[in-house]
Amino acid sequence: MRYVSTRGQAPELGFEDAVLAGLASDGGLYVPVEIPEFTASQIASWRHLSYPDLMFEVVQPFVGGEIAEADLRAIISDSYTGFTHPDIAPLVKIGEGEWVLELFHGPTLAFKDFALQFLGRLLDLILAKRQQRVVVLGATSGDTGSAAIEGCRHCANVDIFIMHPHQRVSDVQRRQMTTVLADNVFNIAIEGNFDDCQTLVKQSFSDQGFLGEGRQLVAVNSINWARIVAQIAYYFYASLRLGAPQRAVSFSVPTGNFGDIYAGYLARRMGLPIEQLIIATNCNDILHRSLSSNDHGKRDLVASVAPSMDIMVSSNYERLLFDLHDGDGAAVAKLMADFERGEMRLSESALARARAVFDSDRVADEQALAMMAELYNSTGYLLDPHTAIGVAAARTRRRNLETPLVCMATAHPVKFPDAVAKALPGVNPGLPARVRELMQRQERYQVLPKDLAGLHAYIAAHLQKKSKQ
Ligand SMILES: *Cc1c(COP(=O)(O)O)cnc(C)c1O
Repeated sequence: MRYVSTRGQAPELGFEDAVLAGLASDGGLYVPVEIPEFTASQIASWRHLSYPDLMFEVVQPFVGGEIAEADLRAIISDSYTGFTHPDIAPLVKIGEGEWVLELFHGPTLAFKDFALQFLGRLLDLILAKRQQRVVVLGATSGDTGSAAIEGCRHCANVDIFIMHPHQRVSDVQRRQMTTVLADNVFNIAIEGNFDDCQTLVKQSFSDQGFLGEGRQLVAVNSINWARIVAQIAYYFYASLRLGAPQRAVSFSVPTGNFGDIYAGYLARRMGLPIEQLIIATNCNDILHRSLSSNDHGKRDLVASVAPSMDIMVSSNYERLLFDLHDGDGAAVAKLMADFERGEMRLSESALARARAVFDSDRVADEQALAMMAELYNSTGYLLDPHTAIGVAAARTRRRNLETPLVCMATAHPVKFPDAVAKALPGVNPGLPARVRELMQRQERYQVLPKDLAGLHAYIAAHLQKKSKQ
């Protein structure tokens, strides 16, 4: 499979190079030249496959023969051994024809484990073949950093450096990162805010000389193609359990960077009968405004009860735009340039195509907390605030009551105790063993000022030396 940039000006790459590249050289994102399609009978034949076997069928066409079948199967099945539920992604009924898909049974209790457990193993496989070592550098305000560290801690050829804003992440979130004491894992607390951390990441990617000969930085944020691909699998898994392909299924997805829901869009393009995809945003509602009123202007970031969806720019939306414009990179480049200057507007035809599949809603903090309380009081099921936003949006935007509706449960409520306490005073979500244990373990991290040269000196001094096979 060949990959092209959404802006049409970067060299084409194969799967492995696209995974290592992150952003394309023209500023675009890599997408496959064609989306693989499956027939209804092929999809139906997967009904009894285990989660890893199903994921293999979905992912393999995107890899296009660059990785041997046995190797791909092995890393996929290994990726989900750390999940504590036998179904990996269990469906739980919460209402009439209404379900949540629990995506929080991985090591860090959020859905990002689905993609990052796979990505870490994939990187290691690619790098061993090439006898190369790379450096993963990222910034986190919460869930991404710990999932990336858990994904890369066992990698032989990856050193991972994750920055978080000093004293601005929760105890649980920090400990999920800093108690991983592997030789290749480095946590850095930057004396600044999340934007300062991200600026340091961007500056580092644009000038990688500090790494020395033969090393490169790799991004594991949600624009990485392997992350998107890994997430397609659970749309198939859930839909098959609810009667697809004979029956259509709809999804509501709490959305930030448009990675999770874009995977659902791809599943639909691949032949899965998905009727409706609901984009659920918090008060940082650029995607909802874009779809509902063609207003894709940047606004100031507001801190919400669902911090993992607090974004100003939704990176993966560009991949949808590419599709809405039939792969016209110049048209996407122009839209993104408009957006850089402050605002972009979609054509009526592009908007109509998007609206045929997507609906959207913005859910304010009070509504999310009220949703948590309402569902808990009526059924005893506790939602995390991100998932509550998805459920609330589903209940207002659902088109067809005959079609089963699945809300993506993206995090375990225990990760957001403040929101739980506000929504349901006195209710204790109960600490999973994994979290209780965290509080006892030793932490390790380095506090650094927000200074590029100092950061680079720290990284250069801590790189492991040789590649391993
Ligand atoms: C990252 C995250 C999201 C948003 O996912 P995107 O792929 O960025 O849309 C939603 N909920 C939780 C808990 C997350 O960690």
